[in-house]
Amino acid sequence: MRVKIKSHVIKPLLDKEYPTVSHGRGVYLYDTEGKAYIDGCSGAITANIGHGVQSVIDAMKEQAQKVSFTYRSQFTSDAAEELATKLASWAPGDLDYVFFVNSGSEATETAMKIAIQYWQEQGRTGKNKILSRWMSYHGITLGALSMSGHILRRKRFIPLLEEFPSVEPPYCYRCPFGSTYPSCDLLCANQLEQAIHRIGADNIAAFIAEPIIGASAGAVTPPPYYYQRIKEICERYEILFIADEVMTGNGRTGKPFGIDHWGVVPDLMALGKGMSAGYTPMAATIASKRIIDVIAAGSKSIMSGHTFSANPQSAAVSLAVMKYIEDHRLIGKVEERGQQLIAGLQALMQKYEIIGDVRGKGLLCGMEFVKDRTTKEPFPFHLRVTERLIEKAMNNGLLIYSASGGIDGQAGDAILVAPPFVITEEEINELLFILDRSLGELALELEQEGQL
Ligand code: PMP
Repeated sequence: MRVKIKSHVIKPLLDKEYPTVSHGRGVYLYDTEGKAYIDGCSGAITANIGHGVQSVIDAMKEQAQKVSFTYRSQFTSDAAEELATKLASWAPGDLDYVFFVNSGSEATETAMKIAIQYWQEQGRTGKNKILSRWMSYHGITLGALSMSGHILRRKRFIPLLEEFPSVEPPYCYRCPFGSTYPSCDLLCANQLEQAIHRIGADNIAAFIAEPIIGASAGAVTPPPYYYQRIKEICERYEILFIADEVMTGNGRTGKPFGIDHWGVVPDLMALGKGMSAGYTPMAATIASKRIIDVIAAGSKSIMSGHTFSANPQSAAVSLAVMKYIEDHRLIGKVEERGQQLIAGLQALMQKYEIIGDVRGKGLLCGMEFVKDRTTKEPFPFHLRVTERLIEKAMNNGLLIYSASGGIDGQAGDAILVAPPFVITEEEINELLFILDRSLGELALELEQEGQL
């Protein structure tokens, strides 16, 4: 059967009609029919300072009047220099050097390449595998997907991918070892050591992890000391630790970077999404002084780069976003509003049996759905529980994000609730009110279908 496609834009679903956006203000987006949507997930956990911020628009215009594009091998710009200095001042430890790219996938893939190059410069050419966890997402390009333990997104391309995911996730709600924290003694972190023994430290360049697991599971937050143990193991076997902060970075979790909650300093960090708060494509890989010193003393150049790397226009925008966050002390507000949001989500859990778990930090909150709360039995995939909830919420004027791992024993149905940092107390109440209504509609439907 032929599906009639009305538009020339290839959208996520070819047979679905999407509303046309008209404009955005603060935490609201409006479509061309005049309907308002509260942006409960900052688009894709990206619009961190909300929509239509004047100082960002002004910075955009000001830079465009000077120059929008220069090529990285010909010029640097004040905007890129200032932005890199600011990022280095936010980043922990000696993460002082910034390589600009344009998307989260490029940022993680660049981190992978820098890690491999770091060992090559020292004659250790065998160290070129990157270990990662199952139930992770590091991006859609083939290198980034190789590192991603996201079964659904890998599936079609398996012959083209490296088998990098090698350890279980720190997923306490459904512990892969059937254990409980703290008596588990962090079995999930210790498993990294076993993987290193199996593969051989001489073959491994780095281990990559999202501080809080986002897109593939819905804000799965590792227990205390998890990353301390990971870092210890990495150091013992001379393996670099890459923190993928694409989703958790730039204030999202109530600290500058997600890893700050564990007080650990990674060797490399990947940033994206909220770095420009979505005002323009911008992402970066931050490297420690130790790494850059080795490359500077060796081949002197990082063997990667893109036409738009360090684009002055995007740099000026990202800088204005970081200044806005500083000037309005938004990271502190994330912490405060995050407490209100998680308490509200927990209250919904009291009301709806289909909510199995509520978790997260700051304004990166997740909810997982189950058919049976006692056994934690997930809903069958074909019921499309997450997608149906998202559709209902959108009809009711609320945007939420799918974090459904989907199949094969990973997290089942899950969402992310992650509004912009500027959300007010009243707007969180409104978000919770619409979510409550949407959950009510879904629960009723599932009951009528005999699923509960
Ligand atoms: N890493 C993480 C942790 C992400 O959440 C994402 C995007 N969801 C990416 C990498 C890839 O970023 P992008 O979509 O900008 O390529």
